[in-house]
Amino acid sequence: VSCGLLVLLVASCGTPVDPLAPPTGSRAPKPVVGVILPDRESSARWDEQDAPLLLQALNFAGVDGVVENADGDEAKFASIADQMIADRVAVLMTTPLSPEGGAEVERKAKAANIPVINYDRISLGGAADYYVSFDNLNVGELQAEGLLKCLGDRPGARIIELQGAPTDNNATLFFDGQRRKLGPKYDTGALKLVDSRPVEKWDPVLGRAAFEQMLAANGGQVDGVVAANDGLAGAAIEVLKSKGLAGKVPVTGQDATVEGLRAILRGDQCMTVYKPIRDEAEAAARLAIAVAKGDLSGADDLATGNTRDLVSKRDVKSVLLGADLITRDKVRALVAESVVKPVDLCAGDV
Ligand code: BGC
Repeated sequence: VSCGLLVLLVASCGTPVDPLAPPTGSRAPKPVVGVILPDRESSARWDEQDAPLLLQALNFAGVDGVVENADGDEAKFASIADQMIADRVAVLMTTPLSPEGGAEVERKAKAANIPVINYDRISLGGAADYYVSFDNLNVGELQAEGLLKCLGDRPGARIIELQGAPTDNNATLFFDGQRRKLGPKYDTGALKLVDSRPVEKWDPVLGRAAFEQMLAANGGQVDGVVAANDGLAGAAIEVLKSKGLAGKVPVTGQDATVEGLRAILRGDQCMTVYKPIRDEAEAAARLAIAVAKGDLSGADDLATGNTRDLVSKRDVKSVLLGADLITRDKVRALVAESVVKPVDLCAGDV
């Protein structure tokens, strides 16, 4: 896909219609929805997409949103939650850093009669009323599928895996999804698993060090990299670049971040997973609004899925959205859908 073509494509795009229409003529005090996002470093998505899209979706529906970020710090996550509970938000929406930290906040919110929605990550063993996310097992499957496509016919290809945070249930689901497709190949020797490590907090700096170590321990030999998101993919690509291997070894990703898509256009990254965060934010906002208005049967109607929490042995009412595999040929479609601006994709080295 040439950058010029991307620019032309976007010129013909219409303005997207927002399905959440603003109410008119209402003077009642607006309910407030408090949102706590996890950090800024693990993915560009939280600052660049989730925060503004959640605010937009809540405001369009006449609800005030307060979006805070825990900056990867459990204590900060807890103190923001304490403040929001003390401020009597109508609904608390959280993306927990760990199941324990998430569950603790949920217990306090419950005690104060404040409903909780888990946004993107569930706190297993917690007490959230609803959960909004994607089919995360399928995200892992798409990563494996993309890697297999990019590898082509390479019997015995040596694979290094860089997994997400051990405290994030999504990371477990991505891993399980990948292993559904890659596990049988590791078992037969069609692919060789060199090493696989989780990365604390999804931190790309730690990811880079872990990848460097795993690669060095294998004598610098690797044919494919499973990186659980675009941030970790970027870390692996940096290391590969320093060894003259970038673009020669397929690397997976997730989140369709600008950096991830640029790496795909350069040929350094094999794929990413596009999760429509606008839809996730709007689904969460709709649920929050129904709950804030006390319309629990309306909220239940929106949450058409269930997620089994094996720790607290209960089903959590859920909205689970679909995700798409993005390879080089699909970047154009993301531009046409205004997911990314060509001007951002085409700057500098692309
Ligand atoms: C999210 C991913 C994100 C990762 C790191 C996961 O829970 O689902 O989209 O890349 O956290 O922030």
